[in-house]
Amino acid sequence: MATSLDSATLRSVLARHAQRVPRVAALISMLLGCTVLVGWALDAQGLKMILPGLSSMKANTAVGFVLLGLALAFSGRPVARCASVGVTLLGLATLVEYTSARNLGIDQILFAEDPWSEATFPGRMGLNTALSFTLVGMALLLSRRATWTSHLLALAGGLVALMAGVGYVLGAQSLIGFASHTGMALHTALGFLVVCAGILWLQPRAGAMAVLSSPFADGALVRRLLPVMLVLPLSIAIVLLMGQQLGWYGMEMGLALYCVSQMVTLSMVVWLSGLWLGRTDVRRREAEQQQQAVLAHLEETVAERTAALLRQTEHLALARDQAEAATRAKSEFLSTMSHEIRTPMNGVIGMCGLLLDTELTPVQRDYAEIVHSSAISLLTILNDILDLSKMEAGKLSIEPIPFDLLVCAEDVLGMLAPKAAEKEIDLVLQYSTQMPRRFIGDPGRIRQILVNLAGNALKFTAKGHVLIRVDFRGADDAGTLIHVEVEDTGIGIPDDKLGRLFQQFSQVDSSTSREYGGTGLGLVICERLTEMMGGQIGVRSEAGRGSTFWFSLRLPLDPEAAPRWSPKARLSGVRALVVDDNPVARHVSRQQLANWGLRCDEAASGEVALERLHEARRQGDVYRVALLDARMPEMDGIALGQKIRAEESLSDTALILLTSAPRQGDGQQFAAAGFAGYLVKPVPSADLVEALATVLDAPVPGRLVTRYTLAEARLESAAGVSVEPLGLRVLVAEDNRVNQRLVSRLLEKQGCLVEVVDNGNAAVEKARHFAYDLILMDCQMPQMDGFQATAAIRREPGLAGSVPIVAMTANAMQGDREKCLAAGMNDYISKPFAVQDLKRVLEQWGRRP
Ligand code: ADP
Repeated sequence: MATSLDSATLRSVLARHAQRVPRVAALISMLLGCTVLVGWALDAQGLKMILPGLSSMKANTAVGFVLLGLALAFSGRPVARCASVGVTLLGLATLVEYTSARNLGIDQILFAEDPWSEATFPGRMGLNTALSFTLVGMALLLSRRATWTSHLLALAGGLVALMAGVGYVLGAQSLIGFASHTGMALHTALGFLVVCAGILWLQPRAGAMAVLSSPFADGALVRRLLPVMLVLPLSIAIVLLMGQQLGWYGMEMGLALYCVSQMVTLSMVVWLSGLWLGRTDVRRREAEQQQQAVLAHLEETVAERTAALLRQTEHLALARDQAEAATRAKSEFLSTMSHEIRTPMNGVIGMCGLLLDTELTPVQRDYAEIVHSSAISLLTILNDILDLSKMEAGKLSIEPIPFDLLVCAEDVLGMLAPKAAEKEIDLVLQYSTQMPRRFIGDPGRIRQILVNLAGNALKFTAKGHVLIRVDFRGADDAGTLIHVEVEDTGIGIPDDKLGRLFQQFSQVDSSTSREYGGTGLGLVICERLTEMMGGQIGVRSEAGRGSTFWFSLRLPLDPEAAPRWSPKARLSGVRALVVDDNPVARHVSRQQLANWGLRCDEAASGEVALERLHEARRQGDVYRVALLDARMPEMDGIALGQKIRAEESLSDTALILLTSAPRQGDGQQFAAAGFAGYLVKPVPSADLVEALATVLDAPVPGRLVTRYTLAEARLESAAGVSVEPLGLRVLVAEDNRVNQRLVSRLLEKQGCLVEVVDNGNAAVEKARHFAYDLILMDCQMPQMDGFQATAAIRREPGLAGSVPIVAMTANAMQGDREKCLAAGMNDYISKPFAVQDLKRVLEQWGRRP
């Protein structure tokens, strides 16, 4: 351990002082050279030869050492190169003098010859000195370019000096100088050794020095052995020589002793090195064993962890499977629940509707209406919960089909109109003129969002308006960007509550639910639906002033789309007056009329309207038509109409009343007041444009234009048939008694002849023997279900096999529609259905007798 520490210490010392070695060597070399030169200048023998009786250093040798010092100190710079070349040339020139036996005179350049020298050429440096200068000079020249060569040359130069040095120590004259030639001075030899060390340390990590500075076993071995090998033989030789000089033994004996002691010491060194290497090896093996143990431990830990992870993964997979099974069970449960709840709800709502159509006392009517509206609210909540669960089970999908966005929005308005009328709130639709009408999208889901937002707006608004704005926000390859806003003038929402709105079951505060009802699910569903359609939803609101909920969708255009609004030629240029106290409603109507080419003015009250009408009369540019809002403060629409009609001069202006709450018998009253027509707000644009055209083009005196007359006219012109009771023969296959009665009653009210069966077998049997115009088929029935019955009927030949079959099902889960169509049915209505749904089915599918 200690030895290895020593080696490491030595290495670190060498590394730390490596840079200094060349500089110290340079200093020593220059000092040596200068001292001797001073000795020559002053003729001071002590400075030239160190010890009396020894060879003195020649003047040109001293110059050589000064140059060597310069070359070492400025290594790598031009000065160093010049100095090295100078030294090499000095050595070479002297060698040439020796070999060619000529005197080039370089010895006397500086000083006269050495008077004490016994040599042939007293001023000339020794042959070995010249050789050393040549080798060392070349080593310095190559030190930066060829490290190995430079180190070998330096070692060779050092070896020549070492021989002289050993000669001095052992008194071997022939090692100091050759024959009659001048010998190498002792300090010259020492100077060369120092310079050689300096050269080796110029590149301490390369060439021959690489092994010395190596951090591995080779370096350790060399660092340990080298000093011993340098010092030991010399010390032994000195000791043995002294013994010989003291006359203890002769030369042979001295040589033998030297030989033996060398053998012993070298063997000792080898033995110690072996010992050390062995110990190092043992430590290495121990370290390896430790490493292996750590590795084995690591492997064991990794294996344990992997096993734990695997177990965990298995547990997770199991949990996932269980969760998936639970989700499947949940969605199946939902489907069953949905069916089970909708079936009786169908009975409740339908029967209540029928009940309301009968003669009832006011109290009975009141109760029945409460039952009806409660059942409808319950159904809404059920639908919300079902929708949310379907979304969470990933069962709800978007089914894009071509549809008319304007019709979709107007439907929503029509649906909410009674509520708006009841609360005396203006419900207005503003459909941008830039906006195309037909798109590919899921109208059902868009309508659901709109109903939710507009329903909330109505719910939270006590007075003012609810405005639905449909804006065009650009179009690209992906479709048209539709931006829909629902603006109300209701209670608004405080800023700090806005963030919570789209969270499940979140209401602005709990008093909201007490005062307005609701579950807090509507907005969550809206958000999920918009997300599923790739859109966005949001809200702006100010507490106490109202809110604006918005959503935007990008929908592709329906390629079969009808062209955008085309101005009606019949209406173009016609002057019209819009009278409404509500500025938003006024503005929207005016905009609508202007889009159809009418020249439109507005009046905010009856008085202003009368003024405008008179003014126009005076100008000779009368208003051909005036739209009067029924509900206005001070003078209402009917009073205004009566006033206008009372003035003969204003008889050219046709009057259309816009009312939000039509009651039985209103028509007669309006006709008596002199109106050409009345429409129920919110007025679908198609109705408004038709009504305008009818009252302007072909007014039938005494006949009011209403949404019914318009619808009839449309049907007549489209189908060429009059709208008489249908007289269709309909087979109803339904097992639930309440539903049997409900559907029969509804169908009978539409003028149908109804037969009822309560299972699939009976339905097939009936269909085989009678030619029905339509079969309404429940899907789940005992004995044979609706799907099997349909398949059986479809196998019948002729008329029986091709009878239109429409599924009536309480299953509202995804894929039910596809299942019905795949079974051979023509269409699908889900229970509980509205009378309109049934009418649509009859009109679309009933084979006319
Ligand atoms: P519900 O209306 O069934 O409670 P919603 O998710 O539709 O659930 O609405 C959540 C809450 O957001 C409502 O309870 C109400 O506090 C607030 N809110 C929604 N729309 C409006 C609106 N137009 N004006 C004011 N508050 C609204």
